[in-house]
Amino acid sequence: MKKYSLVIHGGAGTLVKGLMTPQKEEQYKAALNEALEKGYAVLEKDGNAMDAVETAVKHLEDSPLFNAGRGSVFTNDGTHEMDAAIMDGKTLDAGAVSLITGIKNPISLARDIMEKTDHVFLAGEGAMRFAKSLGYTLETPEYFYDEHRYQQWQNIKDSDKFQLDHSMKKEGKFGTVGAVACDKNRNIAAATSTGGMTNKRWGRVGDSPMIGAGNYANNKTCAVSCTGSGEYFIRGVAAYDVSCLMEYKGMTVEEAASEVINKRVLEIGGDGGLIAVDSEGNIAMPFNTEGMYRAFKTSEGKKEIGIYRE
Ligand code: ASP
Repeated sequence: MKKYSLVIHGGAGTLVKGLMTPQKEEQYKAALNEALEKGYAVLEKDGNAMDAVETAVKHLEDSPLFNAGRGSVFTNDGTHEMDAAIMDGKTLDAGAVSLITGIKNPISLARDIMEKTDHVFLAGEGAMRFAKSLGYTLETPEYFYDEHRYQQWQNIKDSDKFQLDHSMKKEGKFGTVGAVACDKNRNIAAATSTGGMTNKRWGRVGDSPMIGAGNYANNKTCAVSCTGSGEYFIRGVAAYDVSCLMEYKGMTVEEAASEVINKRVLEIGGDGGLIAVDSEGNIAMPFNTEGMYRAFKTSEGKKEIGIYRE
C-alpha cells in the first residue's frame, strides 16, 4: 500500500518546558490531536491532500488557542487582519488571501480564490468583496476577542514595536497554523493560515500567504508550511527553497527542510520552523526555536504530538 501522511503545526517560538501549566499543555495537545485526526480521516477515506489540509487548518482556525482565524492577534488598530494560502502540488494551483477581517475560515477563502477566480492572490477590501459575493458571512469582533491577546497588544500598542505572537517568554498562545499532506495517490498539498504579528500596521503582510515564502507544494518535490519571523522567511523564500534543494541538489525532504531552517533562515537572522512532506509520504518538522506545536500521523501507524524540543 502507498504510504500517506499528514503533518500539522500550530506555530513555533519560545516554548520552554515549565512556562506553561500542564493543563494548558493538555489543551494544546488536545486541539492538535483533534485537527490531526480530522485531517487524517479525510486521507483514510481516500480523500485528497487538498481536502485534508483544508480540514485540518479549519479546525486549528476555529480554536482560540492558535494565532489564526478565531485566535488571531490584534493589529495596531485593534482589529484582526488575517492571511492564508493553500497550494495543490499536483497542478501547482494556488490561492492566497491577505488583510481580511471577520472571515471565520480564511483558508477556505484562499481555496475559493484558487478555484473560483483566475487569480492567485486577493488582498484587503477587494478580497472582502469577493468573499461577500460568494455569500461568506462575517463574524463579529467578539468572536475574535481574546483577553490574553488583548493584553499582549495593550502592552505594546503605543510603541513602534510589533511582535511575533510566539516570542514572549511567558505562558501564552502561540502560533500561525499549517498543514501538509500526502494522499493515497501521492498527491501533496500545503495550507497555512495566520493572524500575523501583534501590533502590526500599515497593511503588513507576512510570509504565510506568499506562495514560495511561507507555503508551497509541488508533487515533484514537497509540500511545505512555515511559521516564524515572516520577514526573514520572505527574504529567504523559505518554502520554495526547500523544494529547490530537493529538485536541484537531490536532497531528501528531511535534509532540505533542515538546511533551510537550521542554516539558511538562521543565517539571515530568522527564527521559526516548518513542516514538510514529499510525495512518498516522508515528513520533516525542523525548527530553530525552543519549540513548535506540531503533530503527524502516517499510514504506517506512526503518530506523534509535540511541543518542545525532545
Ligand atoms: N509567519 C507569521 C508571520 O510572519 C507569523 C507566525 O508564524 O506566527 O505573519
